[in-house]
Amino acid sequence: SLPRLPVFEAIARHDPDSTAVIHSGSGRRFKYGELLGDVCRARNKLYETAGRDDMDGERIAFLVENSYDYVVTFLAILAARSIAVPLSPAFPAPELQYILNHSEALMLLSSSKFASKAQDVLQTELDVQPAYLQLTKLQGGGPHENEKITWEKHGPGAAGMMLYTSGTTNRPKGVLLPQSVMTAQARSLLHAWEYSPSDHLLHVLPLHHIHGTINAIFTPLFAGSTVEFLFPFNPDAVWKRFAAPFLTPDQTPDPEGQREKITFFTVVPTVYSRLLATHKMLDADMQSATRTAISPAHLRLAISGSAALPTPIKRAWSELSGGNVLLERFGMTEVGMALSCGLETADRVDGSVGWPLPGVEARLVDVDTHQVIERGHEKDADARERVGEIQLRGPTVFAEYWRNPEATAKEFVDSKDGRGMWFKTGDVAVRRRVETAGKSTRPSQRDWAKGELMYFILGRRSADIIKSGGEKVSALEVEREMLSLPQVAEVAVLAVPSGKWGQKVGAVVILDKEHVPEGRWTPLDMRRALKGRLANYKIPQVLKIVDHIPRNAMGKINKKNLVKEIFQDEFS
Ligand code: ATP
Ligand code: MG
Repeated sequence: SLPRLPVFEAIARHDPDSTAVIHSGSGRRFKYGELLGDVCRARNKLYETAGRDDMDGERIAFLVENSYDYVVTFLAILAARSIAVPLSPAFPAPELQYILNHSEALMLLSSSKFASKAQDVLQTELDVQPAYLQLTKLQGGGPHENEKITWEKHGPGAAGMMLYTSGTTNRPKGVLLPQSVMTAQARSLLHAWEYSPSDHLLHVLPLHHIHGTINAIFTPLFAGSTVEFLFPFNPDAVWKRFAAPFLTPDQTPDPEGQREKITFFTVVPTVYSRLLATHKMLDADMQSATRTAISPAHLRLAISGSAALPTPIKRAWSELSGGNVLLERFGMTEVGMALSCGLETADRVDGSVGWPLPGVEARLVDVDTHQVIERGHEKDADARERVGEIQLRGPTVFAEYWRNPEATAKEFVDSKDGRGMWFKTGDVAVRRRVETAGKSTRPSQRDWAKGELMYFILGRRSADIIKSGGEKVSALEVEREMLSLPQVAEVAVLAVPSGKWGQKVGAVVILDKEHVPEGRWTPLDMRRALKGRLANYKIPQVLKIVDHIPRNAMGKINKKNLVKEIFQDEFS
């Protein structure tokens, strides 16, 4: 028997013979009909290990590769009314130790693949020693078990998930997402992106972030879509998989290759950029099959998020795919997805992250005056755009930072209207009216994106807004402009301390070898090339050319660290 969680009820309603999960490569398939039975059995193993069956609200950490077992483990923890804490196998032992200690995990679960990694962590000094369980053979129910599921009287209790933020700006914070919040996030996405049983999602993301979990597992489970795990991410394997249904049998490099076409793909900008870079190297058959596979006729939705999408990547993908324009959205661990462009191509406006998603209430608050920027006041008296911090509220917003009431109190502001607190995202944006967008007649889109103002992210208040001589410069805007130079492959724009200006605009650049013969392109050339494209005060005053820019698992840059590392001399 299972608690009545909306996600379980949804799974029980799906066609039991339809495929829930596929392991790419091996081609193993797992049906919706066997999922809940397997979840029940795994949950019972948790009870056995804990020696009790009241685990309401306990944190259970788990280290499992992207697979059917991950899905079963995750759901089994929810079924035990506990809090799932997914760990990344890429984390070094100290990071895992930090999370086990911080979450005060009752139990650590691992697959056999990560058993020794788990043992290594258990060997370190931990505040509380969690019970350990190695989960194996989670598939075992046989088909159509769902029909036998009975529902418990007692509700979902404190079931939920705890995710750690990416740690881009600081030590990762534990974000508590009760199952009601997870469900609200999924419902909002179901509405906006129209997941369906005919969707086949190719999953190449890490599973300890909101993007890989809520958007690419939890929400598809609600809809009865198929999730195919291809992990670890490898651009060649991804291209092969996209191509497989569009190659004739004698062209297929991998005879076991799945035949179903991919309809849904959601990744971070750096994944698109690596796919674009490797596409040139494919042979002619593969090039043509992959172009068909990612065309709008087959790949229904290609989404980008977690970091700003550079316009050149968006353009290049559109060109390669014959007009499949990437849909950009904005999200955070704390709130799930908050803003998104729409399903119509015209609603995927360059540089914009779209509108507040269904159920999400958003406002902009002036960074200096703390005044709410009312609708119609997007420009001030001098017709300058008003920049504000995005604040959000609604059922998709998290409950609290785990065991950190100070941080929780700091990031929420009272609303004074009695309708709940606003969460301060720390990201700043402007709103603009885009005449060509928001005209969709699809019912799902009409409800929430009806000719509203669109949001354009300028970056993080703490790291991307450079205050130089009384002017405010958006690092993201400068990065966008620099990336449109063919010579620039990657860039990070940073606030560099300056005695004269307070801060000055700095840039760290990786050159595009194809467009720069023998690295012969100097910072001076770059500044010249930016003249006329950017106001003078926005053109980087200090520029460093490098071979590598460090990024975390989600392709994000810790700018605080990077600026210290690269512009050491300027700090004194
Ligand atoms: P930490 O909070 O630990 O410093 P983090 O903020 O990177 O790390 P996440 O919650 O994974 O952790 O990321 C959320 C952030 O990612 C947002 O606050 C925003 O800065 C950035 N982001 C997400 N989507 C977009 C987007 N489409 N464009 C620009 N930035 C984005
Ligand atoms: Mg953050």
